[in-house]
Amino acid sequence: MSVFMIVAKNLRKQYGNLEVLKGVSLHIKKGEVVSIVGPSGAGKTTLLQLIGTLDKPTNHDYVLKINNTDLSRLNEKALSKFRNKEIGFIFQFHQLLPEFTALENVAIPAYIAGFSKIEADSKAAKLLEHLGLKDRLHHKPAKLSGGEQQRVAVARALVNNPSVIMADEPSGNLDTENARQLHQLFFDLRDRFNQTFVIVTHNEELAEMSDRKLLMRDGRLIE
Ligand code: ADP
Repeated sequence: MSVFMIVAKNLRKQYGNLEVLKGVSLHIKKGEVVSIVGPSGAGKTTLLQLIGTLDKPTNHDYVLKINNTDLSRLNEKALSKFRNKEIGFIFQFHQLLPEFTALENVAIPAYIAGFSKIEADSKAAKLLEHLGLKDRLHHKPAKLSGGEQQRVAVARALVNNPSVIMADEPSGNLDTENARQLHQLFFDLRDRFNQTFVIVTHNEELAEMSDRKLLMRDGRLIE
């Protein structure tokens, strides 16, 4: 058993002749909030997509383990099941489904994981209440503020008690105050539930608050 929640070794990604990731390795412990920073085009999003299993490395001699599961050996079906249960995603734009309510958006990953509608709805409602959205359960995304939409996205990411939350510019679309509240929420979740976070961000304040800041440049991590 590894003490690390995420172990990645030698992740490489090539698009044609363009080598976007040149052999990236990282180790992240449970309960760590790690930010990945660096100039545009450095490969941050690509790295997050690989460790989030949304995309695969181009090489075969890599290691990727989350919570002691060797992800390089899983087929697509097993991988999507793993992803739904063990990884929560938060993006710059909330990516909530517009035709569903806040409650439904949060409950959907739990339905997919096999919970009954009653169980899933009850988990979703509890989370939304915990995140201060008790009065917004039945609102559709368009009726929510930017900050509220992003908190619904956080609840959705949390609903299956994932091993890790991966966030790509989560506060990139928020004003300073809402960004601050969102960042505070991440640290509250870490303190209360020992939740692990990997966050790609341009936000200096968030990067400075995190337990560890990984600097990426030209396809490599320079810690
Ligand atoms: P960052 O998140 O640090 O801004 P990205 O990971 O988005 O960087 O992109 C790194 C490099 O890879 C960029 O040069 C980008 O143009 C290129 N890239 C990303 N995705 C693709 C793709 N699907 N096809 C070709 N090139 C890509």
